[in-house]
Amino acid sequence: MTSTRRVFVERLLDWYHENGRHALPWREDSRTAFEILVAEVLLQRTTASAVEGAYVSFVARYPTPACLVAAPSDRLVDAIEPLGLTKRAGHLERCSAQLWERYAGRVPAERTALLSLHGVGEYTARSVLIHAFGEHTVAVDTNVRRLVSRFFGIDPHSDALGETADALAPEGRSGDFLHAMLDFAASVCRAREPRCDSCPLRTRCRRFESGRASRIERSQ
Ligand code: SF4
Repeated sequence: MTSTRRVFVERLLDWYHENGRHALPWREDSRTAFEILVAEVLLQRTTASAVEGAYVSFVARYPTPACLVAAPSDRLVDAIEPLGLTKRAGHLERCSAQLWERYAGRVPAERTALLSLHGVGEYTARSVLIHAFGEHTVAVDTNVRRLVSRFFGIDPHSDALGETADALAPEGRSGDFLHAMLDFAASVCRAREPRCDSCPLRTRCRRFESGRASRIERSQ
């Protein structure tokens, strides 16, 4: 790993240790693969704070695919309604039925099998592999894409971004590292008004450096 990549990983993990959202309920070590999958489906295009309120009671009531399949559809909608995510009830219902029929209720540990499930895309599949099975990889959502793109100066829509992100996953700490990137992008490297002046990555950040260069040019 290059020195810049190592700095990125180490500083993010240090930042996460101090500032991460460790108390989010789906991050508890005791969560099953199914509970992690439910969280990832609920979190799609939704903030963690919005999901947090209903998640604990939802997985307590429906801890397995069998419980979820057996539940009346309107009960599932009611349980998810506080999140404003009623469509996700249908996703979870179909996904659980597939888990039950194809894998005897087990969440598969293979990417292609996960991708074949209803409501599971690339990010969700990778996130489940990382958090439920400890796979050594990275999942890239909008926030991770923004952070990696800014720091390394890579086109956010290029193949190079995914390749760079994959090469960053630290051995044995892929889960913490993904959480670190998500939390950091949400609170420091924000889409609008990133907090560059207090950012622990700024000494190596391409975006910060190019912004500083243009500020110097303008002042001359
Ligand atoms: S210096 Fe600014 S743009 Fe660079 S990683 Fe930090 S917050 Fe993001």
